[in-house]
Amino acid sequence: MNRAFGEKKGPTTGNQDLVKELNKAVILNIIWRHAPISRAEIARISGLTRGTVSSLVDELIHDSFVKEIGTGTSAMGRKPIMLQLNAGAGVIVGVDLGVNYVLIILADLRAQVLARKRLSITPEMGEKRILEKMLDGIADILDSAPVTPRGLLGIGAGVPGLVEMEHGVLKFAPNLRWKNVPLKELLQERFDAPVYVDNEANVGALGEKWFGAGQGIRHMVYLSVGVGLGAGIVVNGELYRGATGYAGELGHFTILPDGPLCGCGNRGCWETLASELATLRRAREVLECGEAGILRELLARDHRRSDAEGAAGGATTGDAAFTTSKADKAGTTDAADAADAAKSPTTAAEISDDAADAAARLSVDVLVEACERGDAAAQHVLRETGRYLGIGIAGLVNAFNPEVVIVGNTIGRCGHWVLDEAAREMEARGLSQLIKGVRVVPAMLGPDACAIGGVSLVLSDFLSLPRITF
Ligand SMILES: [Zn+2]
Repeated sequence: MNRAFGEKKGPTTGNQDLVKELNKAVILNIIWRHAPISRAEIARISGLTRGTVSSLVDELIHDSFVKEIGTGTSAMGRKPIMLQLNAGAGVIVGVDLGVNYVLIILADLRAQVLARKRLSITPEMGEKRILEKMLDGIADILDSAPVTPRGLLGIGAGVPGLVEMEHGVLKFAPNLRWKNVPLKELLQERFDAPVYVDNEANVGALGEKWFGAGQGIRHMVYLSVGVGLGAGIVVNGELYRGATGYAGELGHFTILPDGPLCGCGNRGCWETLASELATLRRAREVLECGEAGILRELLARDHRRSDAEGAAGGATTGDAAFTTSKADKAGTTDAADAADAAKSPTTAAEISDDAADAAARLSVDVLVEACERGDAAAQHVLRETGRYLGIGIAGLVNAFNPEVVIVGNTIGRCGHWVLDEAAREMEARGLSQLIKGVRVVPAMLGPDACAIGGVSLVLSDFLSLPRITF
């Protein structure tokens, strides 16, 4: 190709170059969507001549982006040679910058995860240290990358705030307390590769649209429900960005006029009622009332485990070591074994003394475990989250008429404990003509949705048509 993969498509010089670029993009798109596919079939779908298709496919093969994968079937004559995108042409980095973690994924062109790295952060660490940690984490994961013909093809990052996309500036991230951070510039300086930055809910929506629960769906809403709440709205197959690119800040839609105070200054915003923070706040209230016995036991168990892990050399404390997903599982098992080996008996008195610690150790995952073990109070807490989620979803469905609502991030992990109630509430409140057939489902990519979305950001620019400027 004339331009490098993902290189910003500036004005193309000369009509012939432009036509060639357009035709190549069209062919790549067809191969992406229909592979395995023959040259003749590409010519039929695109309307280009066989000669043009052949010569451009040869260039794409030469550039390593497309490969031949043997022969297909034919009703008569010679069997055609089939083509597909070369997933191993290069590597792509997807970054999910959360409020208390950074997830970095190394993937191929099919978004297959080659490696992942999760770092723990807190907003208190401050912008400079968090950014250093993120940049070092990306450098580490790239050090482990396989050697590929095209190398690093791009970095795509989802971040929790308002993003000015063209320059990749994070304008405002209330939960991190950051303003005007030139993320794209920082990443490009360090890695000398095309960089794309967008709001994490938009990026998560893109990930699910391309590789998850939104595949083949033209109208969908992706809700990222973690510490905060944001939405990525896909209308007619495209992300809806609004006039200035900030659409989707539905976490700050008022649901309860006199509800809890929100970080944005308003009261009763949707995220103060349906987010992970809101859920944990309700769970703490339940614990303070002396309810949720099973949850309390689980928290005491986790406390013993973390002590045991401390004694065994802090196997799982701090940042997760760089691992492939396979090694990840092995690491967890080792840590659990170490915890079991070092387990010590704990008395009821010790458990009650630890009530404050227990509240601090609360997580959505332990709440789900308590629900599964029959803790009625924990089940009530998650149903409340589902209820508030459903109230907002009903409004969204009335406004956008989607086929599916995908719930990602931490609250997506609660599965039916939250989503059944959310769907019930949506059905009770939404207009029947719009609600009919709408599914409320968890993100198929689970915690990887946003990082895989980052990979999709890089891919979507690669597969898009060159920009024509006059
Ligand atoms: Zn708000």
